[in-house]
This record gives sequence, structure tokens and C-alpha cells, in this order.
Amino acid sequence: MKITWLGHSCFKIESDGGKVVVTDPFDESVNYPPPRIRADVVVVSHDHHDHNNVKALKGDPAVVRGPGKKTAEGIEFEGIASYHDEREGKLRGKNTIFCFEMDEIRVCHLGDLGHQLGEKEAAALGDVDVLMIPVGGTFTLDGEGAKKVAGQIKPRIVIPMHFKTAAVPPSFGIYPADDFLSGEKVNRPGHTLFVSKEALPKEGEGPRVMVLDYK
Ligand SMILES: [Zn+2]
Repeated sequence: MKITWLGHSCFKIESDGGKVVVTDPFDESVNYPPPRIRADVVVVSHDHHDHNNVKALKGDPAVVRGPGKKTAEGIEFEGIASYHDEREGKLRGKNTIFCFEMDEIRVCHLGDLGHQLGEKEAAALGDVDVLMIPVGGTFTLDGEGAKKVAGQIKPRIVIPMHFKTAAVPPSFGIYPADDFLSGEKVNRPGHTLFVSKEALPKEGEGPRVMVLDYK
């Protein structure tokens, strides 16, 4: 599997067989190069402009949103209900966490998760191989909060997202990934990360932190 970061919460996840799943395509407000790529499936964690720009994509992808199980292009997506804030959605609404499996690798994208998970919620995500987690604060988990959530989920690989980079305008109001990365051994594989079942870190090794480049 190949995982490419397009910026913010948008990843292109391509299976060995060439199926392309795109997560949370953003609009121009976050100032990354527009995600004008072909997709077979697009998942949308919630309907905010920096996550739901489905029309930017090419190839007329199937759109997966909301909680529950849905199959698209032969891939089963599990949407898990959650919130965009710490007050059960009263401030910023609902959010859907998505888990799915390709090439025997379980991927989990937390969208704009804004709160800690209960034990049951964390268990519902299953045995996560690759976790995409928001760390930029203000609208989502911040670095400290994200460390706790990642510690509960215990993925093999963790990829921070939704944080301030050189591209994002300061007025957007999110922070860099520094707090999340402090004290961690950070790997920087570049724009694209190659993941295979065989090469995953072993259980108990602790998550391998991968910071991708957005271009
Ligand atoms: Zn957002």
C-alpha cells in the first residue's frame, strides 16, 4: 500500500492493486495544492469545507460518509460516530471515524476528532495498523490530547495530520505538530509512505511516528 499526504487531513491511499481511497479532500482555505487526483472512493469525516471538497477529485468516486458499515469498490468501511469537540458536538457538530482494510492493513482515519475516546470506543476501532490523527488543536485534539488517544488505540504506525505547516495561513488558527512529536522518535519518509503487512512494526514495539511531507 502507498500512503501519500496531500495536506491537512487528505491522504491518497492506494492499494497494491491500484484502488485509490482519498480521505477528507480540502478546499482552498488551507492553501495546499488542490487535491485534483483520481479516486475510486472518497471518505468524508464531516461536512466542513476543509474536509468535504469531493468535487475537486477526478474519476467520479463513490462517496462514503456517516456512521455504520458501507461497502464501496469491494472495500468495507466502518464509520464510527464521534464528535468534533469535547461537548458532544454542541460546538462543532459530529465527526465520523473511518476504519477500513486494504492489502491486509487496517487503516483508521480519525477525521476532526475533538475528544478523548472511552475504552469501548477505542476498542471498537479494532487492531489498527495505520492511524491518521489530528494534532493541531483549536478545532480538534491538540498534541497532548492526541498522544493520549494514540496511546489508547496503540496503532503500529501513527501519522499526524491537521496541523500548521508552512502552507497553512496563520489565520486558520491551528498549531504545528511539535507537542505531539516531542519525546518521540520521528521518521520522515517524504511525500509517500510505503506500507506492507510484513514490514509493520511488531506488537508491543509502540507506534512508529511517521511525518509525511505534503508535496
Ligand atoms: Zn478541519
